[in-house]
Amino acid sequence: MDGKGLALRIRAQVAEQVHELGGPGLATVLVGDDPASEIYIRLKHEAAREAGIVARDLRLASQTTEEELLDQVEQLNQDDSIDGLLVQLPLPDHIDEARIIRAIAPIKDVDGLHPVNAAQLYFGEPAHVGATPLGIMALLEEYEVPVEGARAVVVGRSEIVGKPAALLLLHANATVTVCHSRTRDLAARTREAEILVVAVGSAGVVGVDGVSPGATVIDVGMNRTDDGLTGDTDPAVAEHAGLYTPVPGGVGPMTIAMLLESTVRAARYRRNLLAFPGG
Ligand code: NDP
Repeated sequence: MDGKGLALRIRAQVAEQVHELGGPGLATVLVGDDPASEIYIRLKHEAAREAGIVARDLRLASQTTEEELLDQVEQLNQDDSIDGLLVQLPLPDHIDEARIIRAIAPIKDVDGLHPVNAAQLYFGEPAHVGATPLGIMALLEEYEVPVEGARAVVVGRSEIVGKPAALLLLHANATVTVCHSRTRDLAARTREAEILVVAVGSAGVVGVDGVSPGATVIDVGMNRTDDGLTGDTDPAVAEHAGLYTPVPGGVGPMTIAMLLESTVRAARYRRNLLAFPGG
């Protein structure tokens, strides 16, 4: 599955909508100097600027206090030129992530992590949903993978990928199993999947023995190894699967494209062009 190609088409569509909306604003806040986070932030900003989104890249020192970060979030909540706001995770250990996320205005929370947005997804009336789970669903739609009634297995239950991906699949009427670090006999569970989503962060956690021949495999993992960037599935899975997302070039570019799309949606919510389901 060519995530890169689909992402480019989505980004071109976003650029057209951005023009009509008169430049929506996206702000990101990065605390500290985690090298992987810096790369993600750079890619998000390059893509945003290319699409005509007014992007603000706030960098705070790693010793920034929780109160200082809360102040910054509040300023961005109040800033009328900002439609989408995300705080790059992970945050340094001395900062309570949940407290920061709860401080973001739900209407601007393009990562879909605020409890208001999480609840909307739970009830099947999505408001903001994280870009990675949206990207997964967009890939399935683009490749016309039948989801209704399909056996879907999601490996990973994080709030940013696994849980929202499982809920989106459930709302699309898949029969969903969620696996995690305590799952017994992971390969037996994942072999049952017609659609397999792997979001663990461990290279090769799913091997060929864990994939049913012809299954659709969405590999979300991004692991920096001696061989460069690799996913969570064994490379041999590519031959064995029906459809397969490469790493790099699969889910990664889709995440960026969907973030831009979410920023445009946030701008529509804020301009009352679209009702915000979060009230
Ligand atoms: P988290 O670390 O938050 O979650 C990992 C999940 O995997 C947890 O639910 C954990 O279980 C589960 N897990 C860990 N080990 C095993 C195992 N041996 N067997 C089964 N399940 C296991 O990670 P994220 O969800 O944030 O990210 C997952 C991966 O996706 C990472 O590589 C990350 O870099 C990548 N990623 C890629 C994106 C993209 O755009 N391509 C975007 C976001 C993330 P438990 O809950 O029991 O601890």
